[in-house]
Amino acid sequence: MKNYDVLIVGCGPAGATLANLLRIRGYSVAIFDRDKEVFKVPRAMMLDSESCRIYQELGIEERLEKNDARHATRHLIVDSNREHLLTLNYDLVEGQYGYPPMGMMIHQPGLERLLRDDFKLDEGVDAFLGYEVSDVDGTRNLAKLKARNIDTNEISEFTGQYIIGADGGQSLCRQYIGAKRIDMNYSRKWIVIDITVHDDALWHSILPQGEYRCGPDSAIVYVKGFHNHLRFDCEVTEEIAKTFNEDDARKLISEYIDISSIEFQRIAPYNFYAGMPEAWRKGRVFVAGDAAHRTPPFSGQGLNMGVRDSANLAFKLDLIFRGLANDTFLNTYEEERWENCRQVIEQAANSGELISTTSKLDQFKRSCVFFLGRIFPKAMVEKASKTSHRFPYIKGFIGDHTLSGHLMIQPHVLTHEGKRVLLDEVTGNGFTLIQIQADSGEAAEDITWFTDVLGGKTFIIGKDFRDFDGKLFDFFTKNDIKNVLVRPDRYIFSAGESASELTSQLRKDLSAYSPTATKENRK
Ligand SMILES: Cc1cc2nc3c(=O)[nH]c(=O)nc-3n(C[C@H](O)[C@H](O)[C@H](O)COP(=O)(O)OP(=O)(O)OC[C@H]3O[C@@H](n4cnc5c(N)ncnc54)[C@H](O)[C@@H]3O)c2cc1C
Repeated sequence: MKNYDVLIVGCGPAGATLANLLRIRGYSVAIFDRDKEVFKVPRAMMLDSESCRIYQELGIEERLEKNDARHATRHLIVDSNREHLLTLNYDLVEGQYGYPPMGMMIHQPGLERLLRDDFKLDEGVDAFLGYEVSDVDGTRNLAKLKARNIDTNEISEFTGQYIIGADGGQSLCRQYIGAKRIDMNYSRKWIVIDITVHDDALWHSILPQGEYRCGPDSAIVYVKGFHNHLRFDCEVTEEIAKTFNEDDARKLISEYIDISSIEFQRIAPYNFYAGMPEAWRKGRVFVAGDAAHRTPPFSGQGLNMGVRDSANLAFKLDLIFRGLANDTFLNTYEEERWENCRQVIEQAANSGELISTTSKLDQFKRSCVFFLGRIFPKAMVEKASKTSHRFPYIKGFIGDHTLSGHLMIQPHVLTHEGKRVLLDEVTGNGFTLIQIQADSGEAAEDITWFTDVLGGKTFIIGKDFRDFDGKLFDFFTKNDIKNVLVRPDRYIFSAGESASELTSQLRKDLSAYSPTATKENRK
């Protein structure tokens, strides 16, 4: 029986991302999935700018853009007769995180294949595909699971420091944790229809955008995907869901395109649901991704929330494995992510309600909002790209500056060689201290701890790289700061005048979780 640093149940996007984030940090991972192949029909169709940045760290983003990603540019909102109500043109605003404000449209199977390909890059990840996990136990010194080889029926045991259950909506790990489910007031029946358009001329004539068709309890979402794939999600009653068939789907799609060359990939009823379990951890077992949270898809955040869970867990596990934090540090995972996901899910549920409301008053309010959006298209897009999923952490492992818990911007910078690159390409994957000018030098002990013990890197703008178009300088000036201390998941730990004060605060806050800390001084 081989012992691993981390055992991951589920090789969907959340699990496979975490496996790679741990792999590049040098840890051993066993990842299990009952399915040998990735789920072939596209599910998520949008990768937000933060997830793009995480895949930039893994070196996947660039490869994804070759065949399976394009900039997300436009969403249309129309009424039940498909009369135009509002266009959200994301090209009107600039993304702050290195990618378009609404991220990229993607082909999920393509992303998942790249993630799995990268397991082979070194010895870090053992992928047990075709293995069903039947039992997890996080109560002892080591976490333990049992997995059954689907072909041979042989059951094997595996141990690791932690088990991360990224095992999707029906999660075994969530059942093991056994926490109460919190409903967030959205549960509606939808039919998800995926088709292939075989007529290439027709395919190329379809605009690369998403369309939201408002209708009382009968909204329809229509999105152009990749490789001749189109998605139609339509809201139906429970009764209609029971009998909805290919003929009904053809009738619906014929309102949009010529159906003579289409082939169905999937027609499936889904309960779009908003909710989370009260707790995401029991002993050494955690949940991440859909296992932890369920959102209706209207903000395109299901997959993205899981990717953020993985980035959050990866750097915290790293600090624990390096002996810089104890096990209680992992409680900040749930502290940070739970509330963040709650806000994202609530927003997605509100959008779902908005497009299918039956209330005349709400329909009137919606018309007013869209009217304003037609007059002020840029302001509308700015608001939409900020409020759909961009929420800061309000508690957890963060300092007390107003910027603490916000995602750090990612502008372009110029290297010594004069090459224009995104900020993270220069700063790397660890803790980062970015300074607008060098500190005066006093009390440098904490900065030495930051670089030598924590492995953080310090950068001075103008000396280590140049600010390409003044965005970094604007950021520092607008926030009246001289230093910003960024965590490996790109969230700002704190910011302020003095580098030594920031590193001192980080050291003090981390010491509350030090392996030798007493219970009393832990947070
Ligand atoms: C119709 C639809 C549209 C969507 N649109 C969007 C969108 O636009 N944007 C977005 O961000 N998200 C969207 N989503 C959601 C997104 O696809 C999911 O949130 C995402 O796939 C979740 O990833 P995950 O890794 O958490 O779970 P999954 O992808 O579900 O992966 C879980 C894996 O665990 C495996 N597994 C489960 N139990 C076991 C076990 N006991 N042993 C071994 N293996 C196990 C499963 O086989 C599976 O491969 C959509 C979903 C649907 C259905």
